[in-house]
Amino acid sequence: MRDGGGVLSSSPVRRDDAALNEQWARVRARLQAEVGEVEYRTWLKQVALAGVDGDEVTVILPTRFLRDWVNKEYGELITAFWQAENPKIRHVDIRTQPSRGTAPNLAEPEPVTPVANAPAAAGAAPRSELVAPLDQRFTFDTFVVGKPNEFAYACARRVAESPATPGFNPLFLYGGVGLGKTHLMHAIAWELSTKRTGAAPVSVAYMSAEKFMYRFINALRSQSTLEFKNELRSVDVLMIDDLQFLIGKDNTQEEFFHTFNALVDAGKQIVISADKSPSDLSGLEDRLRTRLGCGMVADLHATTFELRISILEAKASRAGVDVPGKVLEFLARKITSNVRELEGALNRLVAHANLFDRQLTMETAHEVLHDVLKAYDRKVTIQEIQKRVADHYNIRVAEMSSARRARNIARPRQVAMYLAKQLTSKSLPDIGRHFGDRDHTTVMHAVSRVTELMSQDAAFGEDVELLRRMLES
Ligand code: ADP
Ligand code: MG
Repeated sequence: MRDGGGVLSSSPVRRDDAALNEQWARVRARLQAEVGEVEYRTWLKQVALAGVDGDEVTVILPTRFLRDWVNKEYGELITAFWQAENPKIRHVDIRTQPSRGTAPNLAEPEPVTPVANAPAAAGAAPRSELVAPLDQRFTFDTFVVGKPNEFAYACARRVAESPATPGFNPLFLYGGVGLGKTHLMHAIAWELSTKRTGAAPVSVAYMSAEKFMYRFINALRSQSTLEFKNELRSVDVLMIDDLQFLIGKDNTQEEFFHTFNALVDAGKQIVISADKSPSDLSGLEDRLRTRLGCGMVADLHATTFELRISILEAKASRAGVDVPGKVLEFLARKITSNVRELEGALNRLVAHANLFDRQLTMETAHEVLHDVLKAYDRKVTIQEIQKRVADHYNIRVAEMSSARRARNIARPRQVAMYLAKQLTSKSLPDIGRHFGDRDHTTVMHAVSRVTELMSQDAAFGEDVELLRRMLES
């Protein structure tokens, strides 16, 4: 990606035609889907389209800080999505608005290192057509291993060490969004292309299934399918990311099937990712599905709290920002959907800390992530809370609303009120109504009493924390 520079030397050709705006809308939608809501809102929402001129798209951002950040973190993604919309596009220029060209650079980002387009081993010809840019951050070193992903990780390692080992070919990685499939694939590609000193050069082709389709369609259009086929079949390792995209694209599937067979027959390694296991990918041709499941199938499971904490710790320490354990725990507890969202939230905190040179606290975390966290608030109902708490303390749920004041009943009731206040957005009077029509001051008293007890009595505190965790997960 070229440096945006301060001022536009000449305005790009402005073409406000509907087609262009539609393309841009689709690029934005895909960016949003790709990076997740948190990151999108933080960084990408402000990206505006300035125009398209020949093979170059120009987009603008209001500040240099944002420009540099977007350039570094999302430049490749934006380019890839534009190329998917319009294969003529070669380059996306990310700039600041001319009038704001002199805005102070608020935070000094790391220097932008151009990512090698082709990670082909030294000496090998760059296969720019076959290798989507690899993300430098996606290496084995930066992948945090835990129970949910250790098997997939081990398989990926194995393939990177000795590609085309029988039993590991094809390697099929699957799992939900943002759980590390792409990360592992890039890691394999990096490892094979850069780290294997001494070993014979390995040529790796990595692309999304979508890209595969665009390439194929383009080849058809320009009557160069033979070149396309030959080029694909000359690689040592072929990786196709997000294979589910080929569902319903029959011609492309057919082409892929033949490429797949040719490569496997020639003893080459294939790595595939998808959102489901081969047997669950309905809509794929049966013969392809069968072949996909012939090697090693490894799934990336949903993250656990422990894995989320480890990932956050690793990322915070890489970013060189001191994030209190409490804040990390808070994020890991709140953002359970996937690692991408988790990262997004952490990045936002880190950026905030850098910009304002402020120590991160729980208050800042709440403040900075306010809008985001709202979306993640799992809707725990007061009834669920009452049931859990009653179970825990071995009392009947009906006691939550009864008038009894015996300690062994009243205390659990207070805990349930406290948790209702913490975990739901219900008002104090609302909560009171659920507990036998009690007054809001009773709820208020319960909240402060439980808070006080939690700080005095460690065992009680742990109990309440445990209940909270169970209700939140
Ligand atoms: P997927 O391809 O499965 O949708 P990605 O590989 O793009 O997910 O991962 C989303 C983000 O989360 C990436 O930034 C990736 O680096 C990060 N990530 C996912 N799993 C891990 C992990 N185990 N350790 C470190 N980062 C991870
Ligand atoms: Mg992916």
